[in-house]
This record gives sequence, structure tokens and C-alpha cells, in this order.
Amino acid sequence: MAPQEEITVLIPEEQIQKRVKELAEEIRRNYLGKCPVLVGVLQGAFVFMADLIRQLRMPLAVDFLRISSYGKNLVTSGEVKILLDLTIPIANRSVILVEDIVDTGLTVDYLKANLLARQPESLAVCALLQKPENTIKLTPIDYLGFTIPNHFVVGYGLDYAGRFRDLPYLGILPKSMKEP
Ligand code: 5GP
Repeated sequence: MAPQEEITVLIPEEQIQKRVKELAEEIRRNYLGKCPVLVGVLQGAFVFMADLIRQLRMPLAVDFLRISSYGKNLVTSGEVKILLDLTIPIANRSVILVEDIVDTGLTVDYLKANLLARQPESLAVCALLQKPENTIKLTPIDYLGFTIPNHFVVGYGLDYAGRFRDLPYLGILPKSMKEP
């Protein structure tokens, strides 16, 4: 596999950090006096989640859901399996689902239905990225970092076949790196 120097920067680190801070400020304003539960979707959202909660500077709880990933596939099957469930009850809590990227929208739609069945007081979605060109299931994203074109992106927690999560920026995976 080619080295990471071949990854084209799509969103540089400083721009991500600035936007995360803005999202945190917006969330803080909307949840004054509340103690929301931020539910991060593993694995892709863990870097975003870590930066977001450090910018929030408000009372909050953190939990994670781990779902099956694409593996080496670059397209969604639409099937979501929960591999690791929440550890705290969310009934009557304000919940914010924190996702890395919304592509077809099928994952976030499934997760929203799953969390709503647990009867939270409210449920909002915060996603770092959205690729609107691929939308199959239109789900409103309450807090969105960036809208991006239809590229397969890596970095800032997002991987391809387990690689590139450690990049501090978001980059485009070159076609030459994708397996047929
Ligand atoms: P959806 O169900 O919306 O089609 O897919 C959402 C999930 O697909 C994301 O949480 C992420 O795991 C994966 N995904 C979608 N697009 C990309 C991408 O460009 N890069 C990476 N690394 N993962 C993606």
C-alpha cells in the first residue's frame, strides 16, 4: 500500500479545530442547564468526540456504541450491527449522537431509531462530515461540521482498512490505494 504522503489534504487540522470549537459553542448554548449524554459511534468518531467534549466545557456524560464497520468495503450495505452497546441508561436524558460521517444516511437513521426506542428526553445528531451526493435516507443533522464532495476520506479518526486514523487532518484516499 502507498505511503500516507499520497493522501491529498481535504480539510486541514486548523480548520477542523476551528469548526469543532464552533459546534461546541452552539451545543453549549442549546443545552444550558442540562447534562447531555454524548453517544460516540465507534470507531470513526472517537477523535472528533475527544476534541468536541474538551471544547464543550459543560456538565456532560460520555458513552459509546460500537457498530460493524465497512471493513475494506467502500460502500455501505445498509446493515448495521451493534457490536458494543451503551453502558448507561439514556431514558429521560438529553442525548447527542456523535458520528464521524454521514454518507447514505442509513447508519444514522438506524441508530436514531435504536436510541429513540430507549425514550430519551431528546435526541440530536452531531456529525463531523456529510456527503450529500450519496443520500439515500435523508436525516436532519442538527450539528454538522462540513459538507464534502463524494470522496472516500481518511484521517481524524476515519480509516481505510484500519489505517490513517492518526492523521490530524482529513484527506482523500487516492484511487490507487483502493483495492478493487
Ligand atoms: P452511511 O450509512 O451513512 O452510508 O455510512 C456511514 C458510515 O460509513 C460512517 O460512519 C463511516 O464509518 C463510513 N463511511 C462513509 N463514508 C466514509 C468515508 O469517506 N471514509 C471513511 N473512512 N468511512 C466512511
